[in-house]
Amino acid sequence: MKREFAVIGLGRFGGSICRELSEEGMDVLAIDIHEEKINEYKNIVAHAVIADTTDENTLKELGIRNFEHVIVAIGENIQASILTTLMLKELGIKKITVKAQNDYHEKVLNKIGADHVVHPERDMGRRIAHNIISTNILDHLELSDDHSIVEVKAGSRMHGKTLIELDIRAQFGCNVVAIKQANDKQINVSPMADQIIDQDDVLIVIGADKDISRFEKQLV
Ligand code: ADP
Repeated sequence: MKREFAVIGLGRFGGSICRELSEEGMDVLAIDIHEEKINEYKNIVAHAVIADTTDENTLKELGIRNFEHVIVAIGENIQASILTTLMLKELGIKKITVKAQNDYHEKVLNKIGADHVVHPERDMGRRIAHNIISTNILDHLELSDDHSIVEVKAGSRMHGKTLIELDIRAQFGCNVVAIKQANDKQINVSPMADQIIDQDDVLIVIGADKDISRFEKQLV
């Protein structure tokens, strides 16, 4: 069964969501106020419509209420983004994801009941900053303001030791949830205490940022 998504605003972010959802076989309604955007996407998505979504009647006429998930990707025009979100909320849309342009925008969106507020530039910036600072942190996924999941490459200090010997949970308060082995590219999603770590194995670690940072400095 196809799931229905509506994406409002076909800038870089909304456009990329449209392409990806369509490639995954989803039925997407793409909406933008500008005709050239609609022309760009009409052959990519199932339906593409020129409309100003700050107008309540327009939203109703589009049948937006029939969509289970609406993504508001209006970027620069914060007022249009807030008004659209407010109206979608009033129309009873079950799931509304909105892109925030800055922290104030995010606050307002949370206040008016957006279900999921995303902040792609800020989050990607943070992620890249973490990757730049630490050569051993291969990737970084923020879970909350102070918890993350990171991918770290095991160095010589861990080589040849078992998880129990390294005692990461007790020493640093973080958990190794999976290990990608360097030699055979296998991923072990429930590593046992006696698993031996080799240099260049990739450990997927979950924990508080301060604990992960200690772990990284002392052991990686
Ligand atoms: P990004 O940073 O993701 O590229 P932009 O702000 O450049 O985001 O793009 C947002 C898109 O939203 C633009 O294509 C713009 O035409 C569209 N848009 C702006 N206001 C409205 C509106 N009221 N109704 C529908 N689409 C809108």
